[in-house]
Amino acid sequence: MKKILFIILSYLSIYGSALAISEITLNEIKRPQSAILFIVDGFGSSYFYPEFSPSALDGSLLFKANTNNFTFGTRIEDIRTSHPVTGIAHSVIVTGFSDANEETVGYPDATIFDITKQHGFVNIAVMETGDSMNMRNEQDIILFAENNSIDEPLMPIQSKIAPEGVYDFMYEWKMKLPAYLDGKKGVDKYSAYNRWCIDAANAAALDMIKKHPSQRFLLTVNIAGIDSGGHNMGYDDYIGLIESLDSDIYPLYKTALENNIAFFLTADHGMSFSAINARRGGHSSDKYSTQLESLRIPLVILSPNTAPGIIGGEFHQEDIAPTLLSVLDLPDHLLYADGNVINVKNYATIFVKADPSYQVSLWNNGKKLSERSDSELIFAGLPLDSSYTLKATGKDGTFEEKVSLDSDKHFNFNKTDSAVNISNRKLITIILILIVNITGLIIIRRIKD
Ligand SMILES: [Zn+2]
Repeated sequence: MKKILFIILSYLSIYGSALAISEITLNEIKRPQSAILFIVDGFGSSYFYPEFSPSALDGSLLFKANTNNFTFGTRIEDIRTSHPVTGIAHSVIVTGFSDANEETVGYPDATIFDITKQHGFVNIAVMETGDSMNMRNEQDIILFAENNSIDEPLMPIQSKIAPEGVYDFMYEWKMKLPAYLDGKKGVDKYSAYNRWCIDAANAAALDMIKKHPSQRFLLTVNIAGIDSGGHNMGYDDYIGLIESLDSDIYPLYKTALENNIAFFLTADHGMSFSAINARRGGHSSDKYSTQLESLRIPLVILSPNTAPGIIGGEFHQEDIAPTLLSVLDLPDHLLYADGNVINVKNYATIFVKADPSYQVSLWNNGKKLSERSDSELIFAGLPLDSSYTLKATGKDGTFEEKVSLDSDKHFNFNKTDSAVNISNRKLITIILILIVNITGLIIIRRIKD
């Protein structure tokens, strides 16, 4: 390799020596420090992506929202949820597992939050929906809507070990909600409910950057007003709410852009309407759940290490979690994930798990670029479409792997935690999930009988 500009070694010791991680950055890359996962409940990409023309159940064509801010960055054109149901879809987003539900989110090593935590991140959330008990328990601190009522909002804070000052800050924002909603009704009120959440999230990100500049964080945001508006008001109001979001989201985009934060815009599911003058929409009942307008979701990524543009092909909601981890240069060790990384990053990363007594080295054209011993090693910043050799040397000899980098790669030189073991754990868990689901169905049938 010709241009090795510099090598940064950073060493994170987490959970003692058992999970020691070495991050080796080769070449000058622009990796995001933190991330914002912005989930808009009920936000169908059919209504604002330039490629789509939404239609109603009666076949009539629907007009689209006029938007400017949702389609820049790296945009995934065709990505869908298989389960247009709020709790399930949020669980799929954070686990990368196509059959996830709220219970799966609580399993160890199941979510993006487990991985970020293991790598020294703080998990912060402001969520109006999608905030199931297990989702809340994954956060270090969360401000959430207990009842999701715009008329009588109840917004508690749940906190474990939040960085200093964050609890007081969240409390301050919790108290600001009534002022946002005061004297408003209809579309304006739903829109204000969204705006409060966006402003609170933006202020939280800025506060973290100011008071804890070296602390990496994953900020999860969910706004509920577009989904609620779609359910309770007409199609024109739903479009009006999307257009308001288009301007309200801008300060949060700006914060991400100016502070080296990766921004992921997505939705749990879309929304369908029976006719252009329908006064109620839906997404999960039989009538609506198979409509493309309910299934298509946006995925727009704004990050210094992704190339702007449109990515074609068919993708699924479960691809979001591994893609988010890849952009952050974190390993896809999500225990149940069956989603795939969408190749949006402009370099590749090699993730290695190894016995800590092994010397792991990375070679290119016969030249050793780096050598470390650790239980986890992350070699980031490698040019795409290049070839490397990875060696692990220990008392049992030397293991060697040739790597062609068309995307991120994972290797395991750890005998006690082999890939086979991980597969077995996954298999056992899937069997357990099936047993729980089948038992649930039997109980439901008995209750019905
Ligand atoms: Zn939803």
